[in-house]
Amino acid sequence: MTQPTAKLNAFPVFVRVEGRVVVIVGGGEEALAKARLLGQSSASIRIVASDAETELLAWIAENGASHVEAEYHPAVLGNAVMVFAASGNDALDRRVSDDARELGIPVNAVDSPELCDFFTPAIVNRAPVCVAIGTEGAAPVLAQSIRVKVDQLLSPSLGALAALAASLREAAERLLPKGRLRRQFWNDFFAGAPARAMEVGHADEALQAASELMRRRNKRDGYVALVGAGPGAEDLLTLRAQRHLMEADVIVHDALVPEAVIAMGRRDAERLGVGKRKGCHSKSQAEINALLVSLAREGKRVVRLKSGDPLVFGRAGEEMQALRDAGIAYEVVPGVTAAFAAAADFELPLTLRGVSSSMVFTTGHDLRGETLPDWARLAIDGATVAVYMGRSIAAEVAARLIEAGLSPDTAVAVVENASRPDKRLFHGTLNDLPSLEMRRDLAGPVMTIIGDAVAGANFAKSEPLAAQINGGSIARAAREDAR
Ligand code: SAH
Repeated sequence: MTQPTAKLNAFPVFVRVEGRVVVIVGGGEEALAKARLLGQSSASIRIVASDAETELLAWIAENGASHVEAEYHPAVLGNAVMVFAASGNDALDRRVSDDARELGIPVNAVDSPELCDFFTPAIVNRAPVCVAIGTEGAAPVLAQSIRVKVDQLLSPSLGALAALAASLREAAERLLPKGRLRRQFWNDFFAGAPARAMEVGHADEALQAASELMRRRNKRDGYVALVGAGPGAEDLLTLRAQRHLMEADVIVHDALVPEAVIAMGRRDAERLGVGKRKGCHSKSQAEINALLVSLAREGKRVVRLKSGDPLVFGRAGEEMQALRDAGIAYEVVPGVTAAFAAAADFELPLTLRGVSSSMVFTTGHDLRGETLPDWARLAIDGATVAVYMGRSIAAEVAARLIEAGLSPDTAVAVVENASRPDKRLFHGTLNDLPSLEMRRDLAGPVMTIIGDAVAGANFAKSEPLAAQINGGSIARAAREDAR
């Protein structure tokens, strides 16, 4: 997050104008522009002009503004809450500004910042919702172009939705306890069925959906989202993952998910680390399953945040089974799996025309058995192989694949901390792979990709796998051992 460094010299506020008088002095184009802007509010507009142009006269008639058809005189400022000096005449604007200041009424003078107590923003109007964009009078064109963008961003029905929300506020406060339940109701109101109904212009349905939400909220069921956190970079989180994180009551996360990603969640969400770092299990899988079920039974919105994609080596199968058995609703939000992040870092084509047309996700741990797993045969037939959790068994993977007939010269790419700022890239051949096990300098998660398609990667930013360690001698020794 970048911290704003510059200070605002003008602070935005919303001035109450309903039933109050706003004075505009001037009869030309500038006055008309201000009248149109103010006309978006319910202010009583008083226009002071002895020589109003026809267009302004028409506007006054159409909008029921009052017209003081006389030379300017300080008395016309009377009970105004704001004054606009828009006469197009510098001397007159200055007089108006001086008089208003004398009377303690905030004043704005067109194109004369020094005469202004306030600036008018470019506004996106979805009454009662309003977005105001200001540049302290410095760059009105910029403000207008931002206004156009924001205007496109906001649904035309936003105002109607906000008005409906206002009419329901009292009932919500009466029926829903303060805190989580009430907040969830409003989240669902603005993002769920009521918003969708309003979007297509069905105000009655929106009201019905809101009442339904309110009824259900009292005995609301918990919900679990198994969310893929991606490989570590915050901006590789999907928008859907982020939405779930923003709505979570509890975030149950693995050790591999970096703090910065967890921090994308709602600030006051409870955070539970159930991290299983290699060798130090803090909770068993059965305990995690039970935890998810019990949190959901308390009516909480649970985000089960897993690194990469939740369905790839994430033990999601067991968690989903436990949730199904307990009758708890859940959904799965996919994430960028480590193999894809590592391939992207390496600019490595996982499928390569004429070279590799299939891909294997494996841990390599099944290579330990007597029989060779199917994927080893696929590798020999040219599949690209992504090995998860493969660092500590690198030598075994290499030895068994070579034994099975894969060429020792097959290309290998290794990425530590894929997608993260501290990522490191290594390249070599199957022959060099055992050196991975010896390295004490690889503290982060490591992804190994094996196959001929690896040759299509970009090695400009990677180090040779073997060379670093005593010119490869350790790697060779490890290889001998493995044989
Ligand atoms: N569900 C995860 C995998 C969990 S298993 C996913 O889809 O990515 C954990 C293994 O994933 C690690 O041992 C490592 O092999 C791999 N991994 C996870 N994040 C990684 C990263 N940023 N860089 C390299 N490998 C990573």
